[in-house]
Amino acid sequence: MTITTRFAPSPTGYLHVGGARTALFSWLYARKHGGKFILRIEDTDLERSTQASVDAILQGMDWLGLGYDEGPYYQTQRFGRYKEVIQQLLAQGDAYYCYCSKEELETLRTEQMANKEKPRYNGKCREHAVAIEGREPVIRFKNPVDGAVTIPDLVKGEIVVANKELDDLIIARGDGTPTYNLTVVVDDMDMGVTHVIRGDDHINNTPRQMNILAALGATLPKYAHLPMILGADGARLSKRHGAVSVMQYRDDGYLPEALLNYLVRLGWSHGDQEIFSMEEMIGFFELDDVNGSPSTFNPDKLLWLNHQYMMHGDPVHVAKHLNWHIEQLGIDAADGPNLVDIVKAQRERSKTLVEMANASVYFYKEFDAYDDKAAKKAFTAGSEEVLARIYDEFAVVTDWQGGQLHEIIANLAETLSLNMGKVAQPLRVAICGSGVSPAIDVTLSLLGKEKTLARIKRAITYIKK
Ligand code: GLU
Repeated sequence: MTITTRFAPSPTGYLHVGGARTALFSWLYARKHGGKFILRIEDTDLERSTQASVDAILQGMDWLGLGYDEGPYYQTQRFGRYKEVIQQLLAQGDAYYCYCSKEELETLRTEQMANKEKPRYNGKCREHAVAIEGREPVIRFKNPVDGAVTIPDLVKGEIVVANKELDDLIIARGDGTPTYNLTVVVDDMDMGVTHVIRGDDHINNTPRQMNILAALGATLPKYAHLPMILGADGARLSKRHGAVSVMQYRDDGYLPEALLNYLVRLGWSHGDQEIFSMEEMIGFFELDDVNGSPSTFNPDKLLWLNHQYMMHGDPVHVAKHLNWHIEQLGIDAADGPNLVDIVKAQRERSKTLVEMANASVYFYKEFDAYDDKAAKKAFTAGSEEVLARIYDEFAVVTDWQGGQLHEIIANLAETLSLNMGKVAQPLRVAICGSGVSPAIDVTLSLLGKEKTLARIKRAITYIKK
């Protein structure tokens, strides 16, 4: 038996971090067992599903690097198959037409509520359905009345639900379209899903789905219901708590593997290890180690992890992601130093790629103005002469590299009896526009001779004014 998992989002919004965690756990479980991971778009709610959401989900999966072995399947392309199964259930006596009107059902509901009973369908049409002219019947599944369903939940432990708690749920609407519980069941059966890993908001559906699967003679999958993700205030994670869309994290300068590493620790642990390579995640992942209680989303920890990944990751890989941000700033990386060198120079001080990109603009593009405070402090009366002397010395350098440039600055400081800062800081503000940059020799060698000389000249003119 091939272990088969699936991620089955409804395309009614962006891919949010909760969905991404479900996808990740399903993906990891399949990868760990050499199994199959399926992507299935549950787009049967035609009013709420949009193509933009489908695109956002596909883009999110792609950015996270969660590749699927099959799919994306679209439920809207499988209506024929659902109809066939509904017919089968009708034919074998496991489903029936129900002609009860909305008003009737509403009255029933009101009565049950008044009697403090759980609202449920009373089964009126189960035995004696009377066709009503002009009314399109819905189709209900004949849920067993006796016995109980035991959910073999790999996270929560066994959950037992008595069948008398479950009413006959609608599997097809009046217009013949199938409902969520039916489509999920048919797909999980047809696609050979062995492990249903999903949010625990679906736990109430599970016994009903298991009963339908049993009626169809399908092998029942195992289930793993993942606990909710909460915000710091204990409420379910939502927009109120900050970014919840996966692509927002890309836009905010996070590396996908940092987000994945953060998400894997939301409800799963392996000793007290915090940082996992993808290979380690796959190797160590066990559903047994998923915690049954909700976990809290902590943006500070995610930021910390991102910085770790930026500092210790392969600079070539980090540079690839940095390039996207550089492009967003309208900069062509070909107009300046190699981004790999930028990553190496900036990664201690930048916690996100956005910070890194913004802090690196001056390497590629002339800055508009000096940072006011930095300029006031560094461009003093004496700094004009300092800059002029540096200009002359730099102008004749043939081998433009850090060590040599550093030596020139150090010698000049000595000659002028100034400390290094008094020379390096005006130079830094002159070439970067602000008082913050990597070490001055690194900054100079990255910037190159031509840009450095032009900017020193610009600073001298500025100070003279
Ligand atoms: N389409 C459902 C949702 O987005 C998930 C169904 C499932 O995983 O069984 O909530």
